[in-house]
Amino acid sequence: MKVPFLDLRAAYAEIGTELDAACQRVAASGWYLMGAELEGFEAEFAGYCGARYCAGVGSGLDAITLILRALGVRDGDEVIVPSHTFIATWLAVSAVGARLVPAECDLRTYNLDPAAFEAAITPRTVAVIPVHLYGQPADMAAIGDIAARHGLSVVEDASQAHGARYRGQRVGTFSAAAAFSLNPVKNLGAWGNAGAVVTNDAALAEKVRLLRNYGYRVKYEHEIMGTNSRLDEIQAAILRVKLGYLEAWNARRQALAARYTRVLSSLAGQADLMLPYVPDWAEPVWHQFVIRLAARGGVAAQAHRAAVQERLRAAGVDTLIHYPVPPHLMPAYRDAGWRPGDFPVAERIAAEVLSLPLYPHLPDAAATLVVEELANACQVQLSPRRH
Ligand SMILES: *Cc1c(COP(=O)(O)O)cnc(C)c1O
Repeated sequence: MKVPFLDLRAAYAEIGTELDAACQRVAASGWYLMGAELEGFEAEFAGYCGARYCAGVGSGLDAITLILRALGVRDGDEVIVPSHTFIATWLAVSAVGARLVPAECDLRTYNLDPAAFEAAITPRTVAVIPVHLYGQPADMAAIGDIAARHGLSVVEDASQAHGARYRGQRVGTFSAAAAFSLNPVKNLGAWGNAGAVVTNDAALAEKVRLLRNYGYRVKYEHEIMGTNSRLDEIQAAILRVKLGYLEAWNARRQALAARYTRVLSSLAGQADLMLPYVPDWAEPVWHQFVIRLAARGGVAAQAHRAAVQERLRAAGVDTLIHYPVPPHLMPAYRDAGWRPGDFPVAERIAAEVLSLPLYPHLPDAAATLVVEELANACQVQLSPRRH
């Protein structure tokens, strides 16, 4: 058996008829941008998140960038970002010309450490962007309290956490505005690029709507220098269908994660392997199931991980690393002058994490193979009664 890291064809096999019909509906309508499908999706996704407004945009990166622009973040402002995240979080800050101030993450949750965030605040700080990485909510109460005390805007990057809950409330509702990526690999994904801004702030929603569509409300009356970042009708129609399955598909991810955790708990510790840690206030949606392989018996963490990954690959199980190089050490940010050692937690996470295949249509037999082969790769016995 082969276990691919992700197989999107299985989702199409399940609901392809509905998706085809949605596309057909748009094709036949003759209306392809800024229409009823977008409005429908915006209302339905805002409702799903428990927020008042949603504005569909062209991508997750654009969603973050447009929120920052709508908030008036610009040159000379400082924005605090997690030291460990997908680089888009950082690129959005760079796109508006603001200064990136990375703050370290918690080594157990991989999310922004509230104490590190507070320590990074300066008189020029205007905003912070917590990321709900791998589908697990960041500590929004702690982050929100600190931000409120210092008069900072909070912008959630919820690109990996559609439907996740923090203390029972959905992410996307703990900040001035939240950005969601809706690209094909996300928990809620279109058939191309797509994103959404979710907010309870009417003025901010309106500003994002202006910015995404050339800065006009009335045709050819351009009020501000906007951009072109619209969510196509065909993508909106697809997303409306898939939104109907998000709860069930997230539940399947949760069931698979529970199974991995149950079976692998006998491995954890023995093999210098760390399982995901879920605080009691978090209800993650498992965009990724990420384990950590530490240095082992004189073997450096990266070599230990490479060996485990290679053994899994040879056994037919594909894994990925999210992400192998922290943003501050990327060539893209060479000019900023960061050096190895500047953000040791981010560097350690990058050296140790490994993502196992986990997606709603992963068959049970494949999930069993993943944990068995992981145990083999770590050369320890799973106790037989556990799976
Ligand atoms: C995917 C992702 C983005 C960017 O989304 P795109 O739609 O690909 O532009 C931003 N932040 C995080 C954390 C992501 O995972």
